[in-house]
Amino acid sequence: MEQRKGRRLILFPLPLQGHINPMLELANILYFKGFSITIIHTNFNSLNPSTHPHFTFHSISENLSESEAAEKDLLLLLSHLNAKCCLPFRKCLATLVSDVSKEPVACLISDPVFDFTQSVAESLKIPRILLRTGGASFTAVLSAFPILQEKGYFPKQDSRLEEPVTEFLPLRVKDLPMINSSDPKRFFKLVHDLTYETKASYGFIFNTFEDLEQHALAKIRKELHIPIFAIGPFHKCVPVTTSTSSLISQDQSCISWLNTQPSKSVIYVSFGSIAAINEAQFLEIAWALANTKQRFLWVVRPGLVQGSEWLEPLPSGFLESLNGMGHIVKWAPQKEVLAHQAVGVFWTHNGWNSTLESICEGVPMICFPFSADQMVNARYVSDVWKIGLQLELGIQRGEIERAIRRLMMEKQGEEMRERLSKLKDKVNLCLRQGGSSYQSLNGLVNHILSLES
Ligand code: UDP
Repeated sequence: MEQRKGRRLILFPLPLQGHINPMLELANILYFKGFSITIIHTNFNSLNPSTHPHFTFHSISENLSESEAAEKDLLLLLSHLNAKCCLPFRKCLATLVSDVSKEPVACLISDPVFDFTQSVAESLKIPRILLRTGGASFTAVLSAFPILQEKGYFPKQDSRLEEPVTEFLPLRVKDLPMINSSDPKRFFKLVHDLTYETKASYGFIFNTFEDLEQHALAKIRKELHIPIFAIGPFHKCVPVTTSTSSLISQDQSCISWLNTQPSKSVIYVSFGSIAAINEAQFLEIAWALANTKQRFLWVVRPGLVQGSEWLEPLPSGFLESLNGMGHIVKWAPQKEVLAHQAVGVFWTHNGWNSTLESICEGVPMICFPFSADQMVNARYVSDVWKIGLQLELGIQRGEIERAIRRLMMEKQGEEMRERLSKLKDKVNLCLRQGGSSYQSLNGLVNHILSLES
């Protein structure tokens, strides 16, 4: 723990699991660097202050209606949040910066998806730095959206999905970022917010490291003339803490079950906090897992299967037929699971956090991206870093079984583990004194201390 700096940082996470986790990890890192931390959070998916007693929490009442809070169209939900959070956030931030009983506020660190934070910060004369919760490669693709649109890649045409995107090889048209919504314009507005509106910020913080995304980081630095800090992987930066920012309680039975399984024998399956599948896909996954006769730990989040509460679509007797080879939970302590010696493969949707967590533990991936940045991440995993296999044909039990076999039992899996082991060494090096993330973090601290609000 470094000496206290006499400066307060205000962090404002987007209330989605994949955005909350890295923001709170970043808060921990900056706390250890000597800053006082205040977190502003929404009532929607509100945080539990007792999990981080060393931070100060302030909740804002954005008052989403019940139907708005239950909105399944992610972009519409984000648009409700943007519309309703602006005023209460402004009020809360104004109170915090004028509180002379506390250390002066050095800056606001916010999520670029909250589009109003720039104008609010500007009006209160608070510098704003952005945490980009996605990878740098994805961010580089977003920056090129106007060109990609001009070249006719959007709307994506079914007949062109397998074509290469020559500007971003090895991406294919199907890999370009997209979030489906009842109004396609919402996605392009979000991209606009994430690119143009962010240029006015005092810098970007990335949860990545130079050796992984050097080219993309160089591209972003060349295009945007703002400081870029690649200080990840966040969760490996600070001394291990037991604090969790999980919105759903983590089922610890995973770990006791894993403790009884042989080394590298288990396929861990999880598609993160948002992705949803239909009943037919759910059953296809279930049969593929059962047919391979490999051990598996499967996170079936309530809401994962559209129209079902939880496991009801499984045929009766399915669980018993597994003879203890499978364990299903609603939510897992994922980082602990991936670090467990029994886990051999991660079947993932390639959210950026999951991808990075898998890399840090040296676990090869079966990639099944759904939306947003996941397709870009998955292509990098399979075709650039070559540490995973992508299910190119959707969810089909034959292809799934083949992928599992190749990763668990064949040479290809071994080769991936070797590449991952080298990447893991690079993670350790970048965080050590003199390493790229270590230095970039010191650069960030100095940058924050140099800001005059
Ligand atoms: N996670 C978890 N338990 C689970 C599934 C996921 O703790 O059962 C965590 C995971 O470790 C990661 C986050 O939830 O930090 C998911 O973020 P990601 O970017 O991978 O995907 P998203 O949920 O945003 O689609």
